[in-house]
Amino acid sequence: MKSFKPKILLVNPWIVDFAAYDFWSRPLGLLSIGAVLRHAGYQVELLDCLDRTHPFYQTHFSHSTRPDGTGKFYKEYLPKPPVLQNVPRRYGRYGLPLEIVKSDLSHRASPDLIFVTSGMTYWYPGVHEMIQLLKFHFPKVPVVLGGNYPRFFPEHARNYSGADVVAEKADEIEALRIADALTGQVSEIVYRHWEDLPLPLLDLYDRLESGVLLTSLGCPFQCPFCASRILFGSYRRRPLEQILHEIERLHTQRKVNRFVFYDDALLFQKESHFIPLLEEILHRNFSLQFYAPNGLHPKWIDEQVAFLMKQTGFSQLWLSVESVFPERQASMQYKVCREEVIDAVHALVQAGFSKYQLGAYLIMGLPDQSLEEVIESIAFVFDLGIRISLASFSPIPFTPCWDQAVALGLLSPETDPLVTNNSVFAWCCGKVPYEKYIKLYTLVHDGNQIVRKGENPLKNSEFRSALFRL
Ligand code: SF4
Repeated sequence: MKSFKPKILLVNPWIVDFAAYDFWSRPLGLLSIGAVLRHAGYQVELLDCLDRTHPFYQTHFSHSTRPDGTGKFYKEYLPKPPVLQNVPRRYGRYGLPLEIVKSDLSHRASPDLIFVTSGMTYWYPGVHEMIQLLKFHFPKVPVVLGGNYPRFFPEHARNYSGADVVAEKADEIEALRIADALTGQVSEIVYRHWEDLPLPLLDLYDRLESGVLLTSLGCPFQCPFCASRILFGSYRRRPLEQILHEIERLHTQRKVNRFVFYDDALLFQKESHFIPLLEEILHRNFSLQFYAPNGLHPKWIDEQVAFLMKQTGFSQLWLSVESVFPERQASMQYKVCREEVIDAVHALVQAGFSKYQLGAYLIMGLPDQSLEEVIESIAFVFDLGIRISLASFSPIPFTPCWDQAVALGLLSPETDPLVTNNSVFAWCCGKVPYEKYIKLYTLVHDGNQIVRKGENPLKNSEFRSALFRL
């Protein structure tokens, strides 16, 4: 029998931002580290401030969840940091109330080591506050900080986070090495590749309403604004049997009926990966709902995959379009072009999806992006009769778009990560005037309402003139 090693507490801190919404989020990297640590014999516990299956939500905030499992986080308002003083929006801490987290920590037996993760770099105030709390409750326990914040702003994290160890590149193996070094244990490293790792430890949650899946890591493209390649390296994928086993296990043992794919490139090489997976799901006669919130590449959607997605229980699909300008598409190695979007929508509608179930992700606020590019992209997508989710650009260090933003004077290399927040960057740096920024979002919202009625927003003269008047 395996002898148990020291106890490690994994912590997913709050989001601190102007806006946040839960799209089935789970801290997959942290849970994957948890799986490796437990496999090595460590005792592993979890405190997830963003867990909306926590009893607090059932008793005090149950109306916040939509039928598809997404929903609002509880929010506690906070004063804005000086650098964000001029933002005319309310800032706050999203996730479990502070008092509940304090109570949890005061009733918890001391762990031997704590790992804290971090999501968006500009959420770091929540990370700092959490580390302060952990240090108050467990003053002698070393705190290791990993995730995106130290990955992209290591100096800032070292100077201000209060963590004992700031792990810039703490993947699962590195985390195990750090745990061994800090606890004096010796673990055998039995993994050579990401795909050899055990699956993220979802069983750390008492309640599980959605199963999150990562069947592959990384993406074959290198869009200049995206950090996928920096974070994950080259594209890899897990064996299908492992994924099917996890779906079956969560469905039968934990009664999970909803599964969410977090892959960056779910359809890449689909003939040997996603299609056999869906065929097997059909064959096993599971009755499940599936979601793919990270977006799908239109170029890989054909009649076969559209049909299988419809049959297996996908309902809402988002296409990664970003922009319809040819120069932009060239900068993304032609991951998408207009014809591919048209063909993908056609195949999905033929397979039985309604147009309201389809949407496209567009991006705005890129350093060299004109308003005309955004407007033309919006017009193109709405003319297909599908919805839009407009994402604002957030500069990420080490990406070409970061360098471009610095070169154009939109950003200082020593900038506070807070100003890279996608909710504010585009207009804080003067790229898009605030009034236009708000108008764009309002127009997209109005256009989506028109799509909801089964109409084409571009055929609505009022909408059309408002869009092109921008
Ligand atoms: S296709 Fe998507 S995941 Fe891949 S590099 Fe581009 S933005 Fe990132």
